[in-house]
Amino acid sequence: MRGARVAVVGGSIAGCATALAAARAGADEVVVYERAAGGLQDRGVGLAVHDDRYAELAAAGHLGPDVPWRRLTRRPWIVRDGDAPAGRAVGVLPFPFRSYNWGSLWRELRAGLPDAVGYVRGAAVERVLPGPDGAALRFADGRTERFDLVVGADGYRSAVRAATRAATVPVYAGYLAWRGTLPVELLPGPRDAWPEHDAATVVFPGGHMIVYRIPGPGGRGTSANWVFYTAPPASVGPALRDPTSVPAGTVTEELVAHHAAVVERYFPPYWQEVVRRTPRSGTYVQPIYDLAVPHYGEGRLVLAGDAAAVARPHSGSGAVKALQDAAVLERVLREAPDLDAAVRAYDAERSPTGRAVVDVGRLLGRAQVQATPDWAAMDQEAVDAWWSAAADGGRGFGGHALTGPRE
Ligand SMILES: Cc1cc2nc3c(=O)[nH]c(=O)nc-3n(C[C@H](O)[C@H](O)[C@H](O)COP(=O)(O)OP(=O)(O)OC[C@H]3O[C@@H](n4cnc5c(N)ncnc54)[C@H](O)[C@@H]3O)c2cc1C
Repeated sequence: MRGARVAVVGGSIAGCATALAAARAGADEVVVYERAAGGLQDRGVGLAVHDDRYAELAAAGHLGPDVPWRRLTRRPWIVRDGDAPAGRAVGVLPFPFRSYNWGSLWRELRAGLPDAVGYVRGAAVERVLPGPDGAALRFADGRTERFDLVVGADGYRSAVRAATRAATVPVYAGYLAWRGTLPVELLPGPRDAWPEHDAATVVFPGGHMIVYRIPGPGGRGTSANWVFYTAPPASVGPALRDPTSVPAGTVTEELVAHHAAVVERYFPPYWQEVVRRTPRSGTYVQPIYDLAVPHYGEGRLVLAGDAAAVARPHSGSGAVKALQDAAVLERVLREAPDLDAAVRAYDAERSPTGRAVVDVGRLLGRAQVQATPDWAAMDQEAVDAWWSAAADGGRGFGGHALTGPRE
């Protein structure tokens, strides 16, 4: 790494983490280019990290104890049951996760970058021009800059990926996630309807909503974070097939009405009220996509986070995967004899993991949204059997171990 100049395109979770990795591995110069002009801290909501994945990331120095988090332990699966306020749990599964506020996580990663790492805001990379011993970045203002290694941490519509894999694009999964947050002070009663450490999952034909507590904005207080998955009305679907046409954060009246109708029809009264009390400003819609690149590294380009693989959020692995990419990148940059060997080692290790995580997301999406069982007819035994046969069953829910799988 001595003398190496490294550019990181994208300054979100994967971008901050891989910039730290390159700096720690000894790169001479590391510069992050982030398209957004402002800070990202106020835009995210909740995410969850499996305890085992946290332990590995903490040991690798890529997720510290300083990021505020909340403890989750159980996942009850809840159906509407007449007028029972909080419905009826048909079964309960273990849920050994830590929950985070996306903004706090990003802020800690950003603050953890050494001063020597440049972080340029409002810098949109327009094109990436790969060469034999490096790559050039062309910016929106026409400027071009050359680097020895370029990390594509620029999310699901990655410009770095497009340089070598233009045909690999996200594929719409056929349904949406609604995300919402509200301060716990706004939750309805009764207070014991939702135990503190529960990731409650309200299930219905064709979808579900998972709800868990997260640290509030800025890490202070506590918020309730929900993610609700179901297919949109048929008239909306076609526009979502091409990710470039998705108006980010736009929630149309038609979608709002559809969401409200599903909630009213299938949700127990307490959970209906949780959704109704969520301020409209605290909700947004995320179309669900699948994407896995065949190669995480080619020449002097490497991909990290969502630029390389987008797994459905059910897999509980978006941030974990990005942080793992950084941990592995740091190791190969330290250990490999040169940059080319480092890229090859990174590619060999991360490409199979990316594909495996995307497969887990598809499996969980099918089981929990696209081909849901007759939830109301289930009991604990049936939930256990369904989870191990049709849903996860140890296939990588919460992300795969940092060390595998490999080819
Ligand atoms: C503002 C924001 C809020 C989010 N909130 C949540 C959340 O609450 N819960 C959750 O589970 N996931 C959230 N995500 C997604 C989550 O961060 C990712 O799924 C995962 O953590 C991997 O992150 P990533 O860094 O690979 O990709 P992303 O987080 O998508 O980041 C990609 C970054 O690259 C930048 N970028 C894109 N193109 C260019 C370009 N051409 N030039 C320069 N920069 C570029 C983008 O502005 C963005 O900051 C959020 C993402 C963002 C950007």
